[in-house]
Amino acid sequence: MALEELYREVILDHYRNPRNRARLDAPDVTAEGVNPLCGDEVLIELSFDGDTVEAVSITGQGCSISQSSASMMSEAIKGKTRDEIMQLSERFRTMMDLDSNGELRIDPDRPGSVLGEMEALQGVRNYPVRIKCANLPWTTLQEALADA
Ligand code: ZN
Repeated sequence: MALEELYREVILDHYRNPRNRARLDAPDVTAEGVNPLCGDEVLIELSFDGDTVEAVSITGQGCSISQSSASMMSEAIKGKTRDEIMQLSERFRTMMDLDSNGELRIDPDRPGSVLGEMEALQGVRNYPVRIKCANLPWTTLQEALADA
């Protein structure tokens, strides 16, 4: 299977079977994000155990890219500390970033397997209008962490 095809399968799997959608009873923080360009919405709820994300809920609606990105993020951040999440977030941005000419940036610090399934979203870089979709859960998460 071509890598591109594999990535599409991963994205569709998360879109059709989004993880961690059960709402939390008493979240410590919530944040809501919208991407008006596409009509994407995500609602993030987190509860902490000390500095560690103990439970996460992400609900929302929108395109397959935003919703699959949210689903993958929800799995990636569970059990992680705030610092670890900030690092993941930075790596995700690096993965999605384009250079000033709109070309893919070849970054020596490009994230490796640490992003796991989220690597599937890198194909989105070929569709710049969709980068905002992929990034929406992460920008919303940052708001949630800032409030925590
Ligand atoms: Zn979208």
